[in-house]
Amino acid sequence: MAEAGSFADKVKQQADIVRVVGEYVRLKKSGQNFTGLCPFHAEKSPSFAVHPTKQIYHCFGCGVGGDVFKFVMEMEKCAFPEAIRIVAEKCGISIPRPKDRSPEERKENQQRAQLVEIHREAQSFFVKQLTGTPEGKVARAYLEDRGLDAEAVQRFGIGYAPSGGDALLRFLRTKYKENLLAESGLISRDQGGRFFDRFRRRITFPISNDSGKIVAFGCRALGDDQPKYLNSPETPIYSKSNILYHMDRAKDALRRQDYVILVEGYMDAIAVARAGISNVVASCGTSLAEPQIKLLQRFTRRIIVNYDPDTAGQAATERSLTLLLEQDFEVRVLALPPVGDKKADPDLFIRERGKDEYLKLLKEAPPYVDYLIARARQMDLSTGEGKRRAVNFLLPYVQKIPNRLLRSEWATRIAQQLRLEEPVMRAALSKAATERRSEVKVQPELISRAAKPAERRLIRMLAEADTFRHELAQQLQDARLYHGLETEKIFAALVVPSLSGEPVNTTEVAALLEERDRRLLFEILFEESGELTKEEAESCIEALKNRQSERELADVQRSIEANPTAPEMRGLLERKQELMRRLSMGR
Ligand SMILES: [Zn+2]
Repeated sequence: MAEAGSFADKVKQQADIVRVVGEYVRLKKSGQNFTGLCPFHAEKSPSFAVHPTKQIYHCFGCGVGGDVFKFVMEMEKCAFPEAIRIVAEKCGISIPRPKDRSPEERKENQQRAQLVEIHREAQSFFVKQLTGTPEGKVARAYLEDRGLDAEAVQRFGIGYAPSGGDALLRFLRTKYKENLLAESGLISRDQGGRFFDRFRRRITFPISNDSGKIVAFGCRALGDDQPKYLNSPETPIYSKSNILYHMDRAKDALRRQDYVILVEGYMDAIAVARAGISNVVASCGTSLAEPQIKLLQRFTRRIIVNYDPDTAGQAATERSLTLLLEQDFEVRVLALPPVGDKKADPDLFIRERGKDEYLKLLKEAPPYVDYLIARARQMDLSTGEGKRRAVNFLLPYVQKIPNRLLRSEWATRIAQQLRLEEPVMRAALSKAATERRSEVKVQPELISRAAKPAERRLIRMLAEADTFRHELAQQLQDARLYHGLETEKIFAALVVPSLSGEPVNTTEVAALLEERDRRLLFEILFEESGELTKEEAESCIEALKNRQSERELADVQRSIEANPTAPEMRGLLERKQELMRRLSMGR
């Protein structure tokens, strides 16, 4: 990936992978490598290794691996250029200045930075109002009543916007121009051109972007003021379809658990996070938007949708499902049972029934199709018309599933569950299931195949034995020794550069390989190894030759058993003798 002489190449030469990884993972020296707990899967004993000389990492548990850039891309879920920048910064390598931006662009950037600054100031203002004023005391009592104690208030930065009408304005006006304040969305202007606080007599919840900077506020009325919830408007730093509440704090858990819980409001997200489930985000009101899904996709494709059980929540769930399915998410839906006679959102449910009960239901959350079938079964299925309506409700979802096998599986299930006996409807269903053209994805195997020790050693030598690599590659090539082996592709990827006499760059070789082969190569490169000698190479080559003979012998034996013509049989028997002689010599 890093072109010779490029900035990326320069960074790679100078960067120390142990130091970069060490900022994310506690590493311990272990033999020639460093090891630690893998940041990409949950584990109790370390199977994650960093190789200081080859400058690569590999996890023996989940199979991830690559160079320093790949690591940062995976950790930060960023693109290659961004990873270069991050690594350069961490290693103190100065970054070439980007081409001079246009004056407008520079002004916009400056304005955005100021708006972030204003939000930071507003946040500390709201927090002070909550903790240090008589009005704030009332707000605190309200929060207590909702089960949000001082610890939660502090953890989620909850504050209070006072009722005065211009308290925040007066605080901010000393430092910023009113026009800029109006741009922030925190200050509004009436028709007469007078400025005033947008949020009054409301509990404030800071909303951060995914890098943790506060860019907006969500506010809940303290009394019966309408609207109950009022959020920041769209501003140069805030677009609600781009932001998921709690995303900045959920990232780590998302990475580890590889699934996300999606709730509707910030109170729900807070309740779930406080129950110890950090991988929760809130879409804040409306159903999920595409940019929000893209944001999630960087971390996981498994989701449990836990929206409110009211009609609006159901509609939002169903709209979100469509988008999620299109993006190939594995979706489950948690519809909480009522608490007493009240429909329960996650916040209410956890307060009333406890987190263990919530966790239990979360684990049992059914796949979305079961949820939808349950919804369809609530329709009147006693008439043909009713059944048609139920099928029409389900069909669009079935068609969104990219995987064809899954589609027909679900079609069958729907037909059974809705007791569709009518051939017409069954036909419509299976047509819908097959029509959508798509590939069936094959899951890469997680376990690397067992490569025999001789193959492993030879691969290691091709990667590292600079003094006899060329000769070794030649031998392997001439006798076609690696053909038909399960490691054939790895050999091929190493033999080609070895023959040309160029230095072998393992990360570049790895980049040419498929996932399974790459994992195996990395495993081999990380094996503890004594000196690589030519003598050992010879005996490994011998082993491969024997394996080749064994394979041929098996072929010959099969041909003999097939009862060929006499002259053919004679040839086969001779060949068999020869192979057997060769094999006994080799042993
Ligand atoms: Zn791992």
